[in-house]
Amino acid sequence: MRVRELSILVVEDDDFQRQMVINMLRSLGVASVYDASNGQQAIEIIRGKSEKLVDIIICDLNMPEMDGLEFLRHLGQEHHNVSIILVSALGSRLLGSAARMAKMYGIKLLGAIEKPIALQQIKNMFHKYDRSENKWLEAANTSDGFLLKDILQGIQADEFEPFFQPKVDLATDQLVGAEVLARWNHPKLGVVGPYGFIPQLEQSKNIEGLTFMMLEKASVALREFHDNGHTFNLSVNISLASLNDTAFAEKITSIVRNVGLDPHHIILEITETAAMTDAAHALENLARLCMKGFTLSIDDYGTGYSSMQQLTRIAFSELKIDQSFVKDLSDNEAMRIVVESCIDMAHKLKVKSVAEGVESQKDWDMLKSLGCDTAQGYFIAKPMNLASFSRYLPGNLNY
Ligand code: C2E
Ligand code: CA
Ligand code: CA
Repeated sequence: MRVRELSILVVEDDDFQRQMVINMLRSLGVASVYDASNGQQAIEIIRGKSEKLVDIIICDLNMPEMDGLEFLRHLGQEHHNVSIILVSALGSRLLGSAARMAKMYGIKLLGAIEKPIALQQIKNMFHKYDRSENKWLEAANTSDGFLLKDILQGIQADEFEPFFQPKVDLATDQLVGAEVLARWNHPKLGVVGPYGFIPQLEQSKNIEGLTFMMLEKASVALREFHDNGHTFNLSVNISLASLNDTAFAEKITSIVRNVGLDPHHIILEITETAAMTDAAHALENLARLCMKGFTLSIDDYGTGYSSMQQLTRIAFSELKIDQSFVKDLSDNEAMRIVVESCIDMAHKLKVKSVAEGVESQKDWDMLKSLGCDTAQGYFIAKPMNLASFSRYLPGNLNY
């Protein structure tokens, strides 16, 4: 593990304890260590870091001014992409409920440690980060940051391809679809995941090129699968920024129709946060896509705190429960309640419930008993390139 490349922020009001943790981190070889004595300072540090993000925050719960709980709330609301290690001298029950709260806010919690902290505990948490972060490699690749011009050049050179991750019906075990996830076959670095290029493309308003390319390649593949007797649907991710262009729905429709595919076979995933928009252009696009026959899905559900009223403005037919809730489902009562209420809501609205991030038999069994419709996750299969996905399909289509 490349501990050296981690960037860590220590938030602790006690000077002595803060220095102790910093020393531990240095002894582990961590080069970028930042520190703050309260939540307010910490938030300012994170907001100020536009280039290289803080990877992990080690945060004390009990602090003056802004305490650890309030700090977590701000982190959650501002959608900072960091992992957290909570620390407290106040006992494991309080740590447990703070941990649950963090997860409810969609914060990636590596774990909670009771004081006094031991070096080995920090090491264990880093190990967990290494394993849990499937973004680790990409993060390492992007530690210098891919330049927009290189990404655009890669798109020009046709180095991007869709990967496919199966979606399976929990009741019948049948494949019902797959999510299309963009990958960059980087000439030097190998396969790069979306965290290495999506943010740059979105920020510079260049995401459409990639969206259209993924949609087209995936539609061509799906058309061929259908011709070979495999009828399932494909889900494609759409960025909020794209919905500003009033011609977007038409463009999407013609890409799919041009390859001879019916839009009924394509599910468009928009994040819950995007779905909360009241921008007229976005609502117009979504309504038109729906009229053209596309299915709309609310992605990362549970992380955006949308109200039922906000969501029902959009004619969606699928609710994808965010993986942060699904991950700890089987050994966390609070998570089970959250997931159960998502599934109930989906059923009441007569839309499909999909759980992503299903990683174990236990998760699968629990979701099945809760009446969830569809599952997606490493337990079933990781995202695969077209050739592997074709081999994965029953009947083994070889391309
Ligand atoms: P997402 O839409 O939430 O996609 C699901 C992510 O969870 C994928 O990450 C997938 O590989 C990962 N995943 C699936 N099952 C499991 C599991 O059991 N455990 C764990 N730990 N992870 C699992 P990936 O491929 O890195 O994609 C990340 C995000 O990038 C996607 O999140 C999506 O928001 C975005 N993205 C991917 N492709 C596109 C694209 O073509 N266009 C746009 N706009 N966004 C894309
Ligand atoms: Ca998605
Ligand atoms: Ca998702």
